[in-house]
Amino acid sequence: MNNYYAKSVIFLSIVTFFSGCDRRPQNLTTAKDLVIEYYEQGDFEKDVKNAVDAAIRFFRPRICCGPESAVVFDIDDTLLWSYYEMKHIQFGYVPKLFHEWVIKANTPVVPHVKRLYDFFVARGCTIIMLTGRRFDEREATVENLRKEGFTKIDLLITRSDSELTMSALEFKSRHRQILENKGYRIIATIGDQESDLKGGYAHYKVKIPNYTYIVN
Ligand SMILES: [Mg+2]
Repeated sequence: MNNYYAKSVIFLSIVTFFSGCDRRPQNLTTAKDLVIEYYEQGDFEKDVKNAVDAAIRFFRPRICCGPESAVVFDIDDTLLWSYYEMKHIQFGYVPKLFHEWVIKANTPVVPHVKRLYDFFVARGCTIIMLTGRRFDEREATVENLRKEGFTKIDLLITRSDSELTMSALEFKSRHRQILENKGYRIIATIGDQESDLKGGYAHYKVKIPNYTYIVN
């Protein structure tokens, strides 16, 4: 066997081995343990801190907010942190439980994100919260946000009844477009889901990591 042929055989064997492995999912318990480790051993906080620091570094030298300059924040797992509630039920999404958490208005703040919120508030930006939460959850949402120090909320956009079946991406990008049509100039959008940031009109995007669920 010549050297080239031997190397090719080894390479193909490795590719075959790994592509075979790729089709098999990780054991669910192991996957959950890795997620818990990520959140509880400091990596989550480090990643959020890096995203927040990068945004502040970007905006500090160039930000100049007029009343039309708006920053759009998602709420769940961007400002308010459901990780321990999710962990309590071994992760997954149970709509009834989620609604109960919202109504309790007791969800803590996501580490570091308050610093970014304070940065934009101090510079006079209009603070807009754009959330997939329902209209009947508004009161509890505001109570929870205020409890965690988010006292300046210029506009809170929740889902109306006619928007309940809309995808998050469609709902959020549509509202950002409406905001811009009304004359707001969105300078940044902050969210934990790709659907918070895609679809246009987001401008500077801050992605908060989320390894517990995906909302499309
Ligand atoms: Mg969210």
